[in-house]
Amino acid sequence: MNYFPVFFDLTAQKVLIVGGGEVALRKLALLERTGAKVLVVAPELVPELDERAAAGNISAARREFVPDDLDGARLVIVATARRAVNRWIATLCEARGIPVNVVDDREASRYIVPAIIDRDPVLVAICTSGTSPVLARRLRERLEALIPRRIGELALWLRALRHTARRRLRDTGARRRYFESIVDGPAARRFVEGDAQGAQRMAQQLLASTPSTRTAGAVALVGAGPGDPELLTLKALRALQDADVILHDRLVAPAVLDLARRDARRICVGKAAGSIGSTQAEINALLIEQALAGRRVVRLKGGDPFIFGRGGEELEALREARIDFSVIPGITAAAGCAAYAGIPLTHRDHAHSVTFVAGHGDGDGREPDWRALAKPGSTAVFYMGLARVEHISARLMQHGAPGSLPAALIAQGTLENQRVIAGTLADIAEAANRAGLESPALLVVGEVVSLHHSLAWFNAAPQLAVSRSA
Ligand code: SAH
Repeated sequence: MNYFPVFFDLTAQKVLIVGGGEVALRKLALLERTGAKVLVVAPELVPELDERAAAGNISAARREFVPDDLDGARLVIVATARRAVNRWIATLCEARGIPVNVVDDREASRYIVPAIIDRDPVLVAICTSGTSPVLARRLRERLEALIPRRIGELALWLRALRHTARRRLRDTGARRRYFESIVDGPAARRFVEGDAQGAQRMAQQLLASTPSTRTAGAVALVGAGPGDPELLTLKALRALQDADVILHDRLVAPAVLDLARRDARRICVGKAAGSIGSTQAEINALLIEQALAGRRVVRLKGGDPFIFGRGGEELEALREARIDFSVIPGITAAAGCAAYAGIPLTHRDHAHSVTFVAGHGDGDGREPDWRALAKPGSTAVFYMGLARVEHISARLMQHGAPGSLPAALIAQGTLENQRVIAGTLADIAEAANRAGLESPALLVVGEVVSLHHSLAWFNAAPQLAVSRSA
């Protein structure tokens, strides 16, 4: 390791910047927030530096650098356009033992400046030891996505909790357990999700309960999106990486499960149409059992948990068992598949409403409102309807929809093997049979489907660019 990572307290310390250009300005922007006393030395300053000097935020000396400028400096940044001058200043700093950074000259620098994620007071610094700034930036982007926006506020909240905890819990071990159960448990998650009051309530409850006993876990009901793992929300990703146990449906793509912590237990409780799986009561019981054992449970469902996902029923069971839960929405199949098939579900010229319909019929003879679904100017999306495409199109036509109304089936939507079969109400069932489509598939009916021909983009042949020379 060539570099020793430190965080430097510069409050009221003298920092010297040699150079008055854009680079100096960029370095200053960060330094300013540390409370350092900055001196900028350069014959000419860019206007922003001038303004800051005029406002008294920094000191400026509009002249060439002289060695005395180093007097009392705790840190030096050199950013003139002249390499030889930069190196000379660096040598002077070395002789005086003052850490120096020469911008874009690692060899002449005693320290280098990392890429940072600033969620004050939480700071994450990334260093590739100068090997690749691009790699550092990419890493930062990834981490940005993983680290909750509100992690800084979380840190401040935890500090505030320390006071009460110190009064109530004399034993340091008990205090540590208390903070672990907050940081690792639902309270911190609540907090970063934006529910500070809920988090505070949980923290109070934790403080009141004997901290030596294990606290009950919690369940996050999470939407995994329609298939493409990159359609997960950031919150869903975080919940997956937090979870001790994941109970997932068969519909959840393996690539999504791969994003969970490696040592998390994965339990498939899938109910594929027409096959035997866990009953709803069994799933509810398993959820409760896992949470009561103190685990962080993710109940992962395809698409959105509140759209044909029975998420509501599971939450009712959890409520009954007094288990904490939260819900993270997902991109429902209709939204995901329509986007990837180039079918806008509404469009000012074609449809002003869209209805999501369970296409499988519910066994006790209740039927959807076919007349409403057949109305012009609306879009209907049938979930779980692949086996009943013929029945559905026949009903719609009986209730006034023309046989020429565009309809499409989208199978394995958003995944690499997505297939879209477009036709009309009159011929879609037969086309589906011929194509041998497999579940999961969605049926979309309405004028908007006609846009698929011109708007398809995913897995579609590339369009020929319109020639501009003509
Ligand atoms: N909660 C889920 C829906 C569960 S019902 C959601 O919000 O998307 C299961 C039905 O969703 C399937 O029968 C199918 O109609 C549809 N579906 C889910 N994923 C799909 C996909 N990748 N492509 C096409 N249809 C999909």
